[in-house]
Amino acid sequence: MKIHEFQAKGILARYGFRVPRGEVAATPAEARAAAGRLGGRVVLKAQVHAGGRGRAGGVRAAGSPEEAERLAKEMLGATLVTAQTGPGGRAVRLLLVEEAVEVARELYLGIAVDRSREAAVVMASAGGGVDIEALAVEKPEAVLREYVHPVAGLELFQARALAFGLGLAGDVHGRAVTSILGLAECFAATEASLAEVNPLAVTASGDVLALDAKMEFDDNALPRHPDILALLEVEASRYGLNYVKLEGEIGCLVNGAGLAMATMDLIRLEGGRPADFLDIGGGVKEEAVGRAFRLLVSDPEIKAVLINIFGGIVRCDLVAAGVVKAARDAGTRVPVVIRLEGTNAEEGRALLRDSGLAFHPAEGMKEAAALAVTLAAGGGRPGKL
Ligand code: GDP
Ligand code: MN
Repeated sequence: MKIHEFQAKGILARYGFRVPRGEVAATPAEARAAAGRLGGRVVLKAQVHAGGRGRAGGVRAAGSPEEAERLAKEMLGATLVTAQTGPGGRAVRLLLVEEAVEVARELYLGIAVDRSREAAVVMASAGGGVDIEALAVEKPEAVLREYVHPVAGLELFQARALAFGLGLAGDVHGRAVTSILGLAECFAATEASLAEVNPLAVTASGDVLALDAKMEFDDNALPRHPDILALLEVEASRYGLNYVKLEGEIGCLVNGAGLAMATMDLIRLEGGRPADFLDIGGGVKEEAVGRAFRLLVSDPEIKAVLINIFGGIVRCDLVAAGVVKAARDAGTRVPVVIRLEGTNAEEGRALLRDSGLAFHPAEGMKEAAALAVTLAAGGGRPGKL
């Protein structure tokens, strides 16, 4: 599971990592107000699940609240295409508005699992900023590494060695050591699979701050971390989706609360358990359908997805197009059963058929629920997708 930069910064801050003051904005007016509270000079950062934003116009500096509002108008609702999003890009729905800081040096700091060593490894480099992947390939010696003992954790001397290796001294060295230890503690406590701060900034005044942050979590560990899983629900409400996470293994995507309840009942009758209540509502757009689908498959506990749409106000072909696009972009590791009925159902089915992706079509609701339960019981093998 991936989370947004602002969420990762919130988690890191709990472990003593210093981050710039910032606020999240969903509208230009909110961006303007946030910029005012943050002192006027701010950086606006698109919150999408992909890096490479700096190069693609996803990180912009504003000199005043008015400019922040104007830039936010351009950024919000636009599609951001970066080297990591794929050609389709990602719609920007949320900005992180942060106080501008005067950066003296940009460093790299990250922690990940080294499978061959069966240990977590902390990596640091003086060559921080935007191109760490290229640096690691071209000049591997420029990336310092310290392996974390599974019981002892990262030791003070190791954090100090990394900070010295980055060329830091005095107070800045001490602050970097605190950050490095905080990162390692945060990684272990949240059972993350990756935590990366790039750049880690040394400011003109000697402060050490996470300018960017990225965290990914081990899906198998998430049931032990309800606070991180809860971020999924928060995400849903932001897109106008009505989502409640439940305990089961069948992810449901339905339009209308009544139909969603009936779908959940049918799943129980067939011997399965719904993993969520997800009502995409009536006037939903293709983009929101894609969002809903991505949200659903990011739940690590699901073993099958059941999409049940009755096209009244919402058109079945629009839902189908959203699902096809999201499945193509994000992929899914579980089988997907789809039942479409009502407005433009035939067009919707044709889109699914022609997608080249192997969805499992179903006619009736009961049949759809039974099929989803059977596929989930089969272990939710990657299915045909
Ligand atoms: P990424 O390109 O998606 O990894 O986005 P980053 O958050 O790393 O931003 C890219 C670049 O923008 C960084 O390397 C910084 O140089 C710059 N940047 C990001 N945030 C700030 C900030 O708060 N202040 C300043 N001055 N520069 C920033
Ligand atoms: Mn970055």
